[in-house]
Amino acid sequence: MSTEHCYLCPEKDDQPKVFFKIDSATFFQCRHCGLVWLEKNKWHASQQQYYSEQYYSEEYSGRKNLRNLFLYRFKLIKKYFKPQGKILEIGAASGDFLHLLQDIGYHVYGVELSKRAAEQAVRNYNLNFFQGTLEEAAFAGNYFDYIVMYHVLEHVPDPGATLKEAYRVLKPGGRILIEVPNVRSVDMYSKPLILNALDYPNHIYGFSRETLTKLVVDAGFKPVAFESSFPFLFAQFLTKVRHLLKSQGSSVGTKDGFAVTGRELIEQAKQDSPLKRCVQRCIPGMKVTIIGEK
Ligand SMILES: [Zn+2]
Repeated sequence: MSTEHCYLCPEKDDQPKVFFKIDSATFFQCRHCGLVWLEKNKWHASQQQYYSEQYYSEEYSGRKNLRNLFLYRFKLIKKYFKPQGKILEIGAASGDFLHLLQDIGYHVYGVELSKRAAEQAVRNYNLNFFQGTLEEAAFAGNYFDYIVMYHVLEHVPDPGATLKEAYRVLKPGGRILIEVPNVRSVDMYSKPLILNALDYPNHIYGFSRETLTKLVVDAGFKPVAFESSFPFLFAQFLTKVRHLLKSQGSSVGTKDGFAVTGRELIEQAKQDSPLKRCVQRCIPGMKVTIIGEK
């Protein structure tokens, strides 16, 4: 019998499918719910990496396009949260995003595993930061109005436990926003993008809208909305068409550095193209987001 059991439906002990092979590692997929996971004997490498100081610096500081990334986040914050209250970011890195949220009026709190990142957040922005896991932070129950988690759950061996703790510290009626890479994205037809989504050995799980929903519902939340990012493959296609037409239209991304305030971003978050919204709704991109309520 297989030693590989689905985290979401362990009672179904069918042999999982092979989803993808990278080097000597295999990602499995549950035949029932579609959850993807890294084979268990490789989790050790994944966790070593996740808890190391290096992971943070490579993963986060290496991003060139922080402005666009944060604008995407601001659009969803504006759409689903009221512009006031206590907000907690789980996996807050060095606090750049929380600092922007503070700029638009939230009382912000961060939890971060990396000591170096947490120290940077306090040094640069003087933020309320706890270095460690959410469970270790031991916040009071019913404390936060909002919680955000960007690309955290795919790293955590027991994501349900993290979400149950998030549920405990959220106020009744409060909202949580969770974003993870989407293994059911149209972008998963491209091998480099599969490698990006599975990010071996860093990620333990590969979620889809359906499996993320099950996790969130099992923790007690009521799902209120879903969002998906703009698909890369479609953006590439548009770029090609534009190139053929030799037009000088604005590109989907910019290479701007990161020098922006929260107030600027919340202003820009008001503008959105209906075509882009439509594509995002119909063709799921690499990031899937769920908004849940307590
Ligand atoms: Zn399953």
